[in-house]
Amino acid sequence: MPKLPGKDTSLWLDTTPKTNFTELADLKHTLDVAVVGGGIAGILTAWYLQQIGLKVAIIEKARIIENTTGNTTAKLTSQHNLVYAYLIRQHGRPAARAFGEANQQAIEDIFNLSKQLAIDCDFERAEAYVFTQRKDKLEAIKQETEAAKSLGLPASFETKTDLPFSVKGAIKFANQAQFHPRKFLLGVIAELRKNKVPIFEQTEALDIKPGSVAILKTNKGELKAKYIVGATKYPFWRQDLFEDKTWVKLSYALGVLLKGDYPQQMYISAEEPVRTIRSHPYKAGRILIFGGESHLMTKDYNKDEHYQNLIDDVKRKFKVKQIVYRWIAGDMMPNDKMPYIGAYPGESNIFVITGFHAWGLGWGMAAAQMIRDEIAKQPNQYKQFFSLSR
Ligand SMILES: Cc1cc2nc3c(=O)[nH]c(=O)nc-3n(C[C@H](O)[C@H](O)[C@H](O)COP(=O)(O)OP(=O)(O)OC[C@H]3O[C@@H](n4cnc5c(N)ncnc54)[C@H](O)[C@@H]3O)c2cc1C
Repeated sequence: MPKLPGKDTSLWLDTTPKTNFTELADLKHTLDVAVVGGGIAGILTAWYLQQIGLKVAIIEKARIIENTTGNTTAKLTSQHNLVYAYLIRQHGRPAARAFGEANQQAIEDIFNLSKQLAIDCDFERAEAYVFTQRKDKLEAIKQETEAAKSLGLPASFETKTDLPFSVKGAIKFANQAQFHPRKFLLGVIAELRKNKVPIFEQTEALDIKPGSVAILKTNKGELKAKYIVGATKYPFWRQDLFEDKTWVKLSYALGVLLKGDYPQQMYISAEEPVRTIRSHPYKAGRILIFGGESHLMTKDYNKDEHYQNLIDDVKRKFKVKQIVYRWIAGDMMPNDKMPYIGAYPGESNIFVITGFHAWGLGWGMAAAQMIRDEIAKQPNQYKQFFSLSR
């Protein structure tokens, strides 16, 4: 296979500085909360917990915001492909409504937090479309539009888009958003550092000894905390609970300069192979993000072949000038399409956040608030739907 074009890194990682926090050293005092995992879920959980006055630390195995959150396509939307008709059928209307509302709310909460902290994170409003080029998918698109509308979501059926190819039909979600996840989260991290929240990188959580003061065992020593939140995407503790309920999906993306116009809205295809499309500000202009080729993570898969499929397809669909970036990451897929957010069974002070189903940017925000409310013993209208015992 010929050498693949483009830098082997994401747009987000290449356009922001790297972090360099120290590893865990002697932490003698007991924390209120140890948050394990420095992606969007962990960082926002730490943010909301320190906002209510708790003593928090973030423990990250590698470097923060370099795993899936650093290798995403960064659409902020309640439009998660064809999901709402399924959710209503599978989980009932209240759960489907909570799913939609939590993600709608998350868009506004990320916008408001970026304003409050004056973070320039390229936040842009855009419409989110799920489109089909196949006649036999139209019925599913129409049913999904009705399902989403019935839940109060801003959905409508359309046949026109700003893509350079025709579609048979599409669901439009109005007033959604897109942003730069690393710019946003590095801004939150800067604020956490001002508030003296310790961040330990290159420190891997290995185990937990439960108790009213729990002990987090890491490869760099132990620490004590009244609460522990595992926001590591793939749970590092009691993985057995998730084995039959989840699977791991890998997805690929390209950053591409075009000769012609860039789409201003966000797109995902209803049919396989799924294609996800949007553009983002880049230098003096824009860059196209073109992703897909998702598959179950197995021991042996041919990464280059999937990249090549994406490259061939973007060239069929757009007037390509240059492939600038290519990146890949995995996400935790719950079989029933709902994330798991809450306390472990039998433990009231040890929490897990996982199962974002490749839509974790809004979920990261929603989950952070659910965990905050659980620890603060405040009501939260969403958390009952995502508990581990559902
Ligand atoms: C190509 C692609 C495109 C996507 N596009 C979108 C999109 O447009 N919109 C959307 O909403 N979502 C999208 N997603 C999904 C979204 O990016 C993820 O759901 C989200 O970033 C997951 O965040 P997280 O904090 O759970 O995980 P991560 O960002 O992976 O963070 C988890 C962190 O935990 C650390 N960690 C793991 N184990 C340990 C341990 N034992 N000890 C300490 N630290 C540990 C990891 O190193 C990592 O930094 C996409 C995903 C991919 C792969």
